[in-house]
Amino acid sequence: MNVAIIGAGPSGLACALELERHGIAPVIFEQRHRPGDLFDHCAAVLELFTRPNDPLADLKKNYSIELRPINGIRTIVMKSPQKEVNVKGKLGYFFMRGGDPNSVETQLYNKLKTRVSTNTKVHYTDLHRDYDYVVVASGGRETSRTEGIWSTVFSSNMIGGTVIGRFDLTRLLMWMDTRYSKNAYAYLAPMEKKRAFLGLVVPESTVEEARERWKNFWMLESHPYEQVNEIIVEHKAGFVYPHQVGNLLFVGISGGFQEPFLGFGLISALKSGVLAGRAIATGRRYEDLLVQLKEDMKHSLILREMFNSVDNKALDNIMMTLKIPGIKPLIYNTNIDFIRIGTSAAAHIKKVLTNLRKG
Ligand SMILES: Cc1cc2nc3c(=O)[nH]c(=O)nc-3n(C[C@H](O)[C@H](O)[C@H](O)COP(=O)(O)OP(=O)(O)OC[C@H]3O[C@@H](n4cnc5c(N)ncnc54)[C@H](O)[C@@H]3O)c2cc1C
Repeated sequence: MNVAIIGAGPSGLACALELERHGIAPVIFEQRHRPGDLFDHCAAVLELFTRPNDPLADLKKNYSIELRPINGIRTIVMKSPQKEVNVKGKLGYFFMRGGDPNSVETQLYNKLKTRVSTNTKVHYTDLHRDYDYVVVASGGRETSRTEGIWSTVFSSNMIGGTVIGRFDLTRLLMWMDTRYSKNAYAYLAPMEKKRAFLGLVVPESTVEEARERWKNFWMLESHPYEQVNEIIVEHKAGFVYPHQVGNLLFVGISGGFQEPFLGFGLISALKSGVLAGRAIATGRRYEDLLVQLKEDMKHSLILREMFNSVDNKALDNIMMTLKIPGIKPLIYNTNIDFIRIGTSAAAHIKKVLTNLRKG
């Protein structure tokens, strides 16, 4: 069977690994000179979103993907304009991204037998007649949009860079303040004791606005760090349906698998890549394999909708609620799938209120 994969990011590489496990050697095209993001940064994976499973154990058991994180997350510090909450526990993992020897991409690539055709930018229309299947893993929405299966649900610019300072390797810092992050957030994820990634997500913004808010963020939070480089990337989360059109299968961001609440997408990129490979190799319907993943995206969308209307007072109140004895452990330190229960309840309340208003 001939399979082409467009893109050697996490979703494309995970798909290639699954195909190899079934004895299929795909052809992988990557426009850059190597697999992996252009700049090194640190990605956070929160256990809160993968309950009741540990994300690493789940990847290993159900997707045959073994990854080494750079560290476990043991503390999350969440700051709103007037409040601060510290959560402690086994909260998730930090993963290196980019060309680093420990990055997710390097780890996946080292497990692959197939080599990637680098410096090769391809268009799906050049491939789909020559291959039995083409997996679109390009990390963007262009192909999905051209095929008429994409609608944008969250649009933002992510601005950030590497900062030098002193960092606790197990601590994730998050800021929420509408003065700079509107209804999104900023975060700091450590790569090493003296090097971290600091990023700010600015929804519905131009590049100029994102830069202006980045300045405000530094001014209002008086960061003691030194910034050594800057990145600014468009961050779009979309709803995609169906996920297969003819012999094209859409994975990762191109398949709508970047969750709209925080813009996280590493785990869902890996899972969708594996599931696409599995569907191709076994003849099962890709859409049927995606049920759980689509459900996770739906819950994240509900959370996003809830946060779209919050102001700074509401953010402070949310932090106060987290300080009530028993609430923090209930959300973070149990095996209860709080996101699913919480968002289902929220969606239900929203529906009732809408019906009441209509009535
Ligand atoms: C700064 C930043 C911080 C982030 N932080 C987090 C985080 O903390 N936690 C988290 O879970 N997620 C995070 N994300 C999101 C996460 O990185 C993405 O969801 C994930 O990388 C998506 O994987 P993907 O394979 O779909 O796409 P990508 O990683 O974008 O890979 C796509 C690949 O396809 C290649 N390509 C594109 N077009 C072509 C073409 N025409 N021909 C050949 N090759 C092509 C690209 O060069 C790229 O290598 C972050 C993203 C950014 C930008």
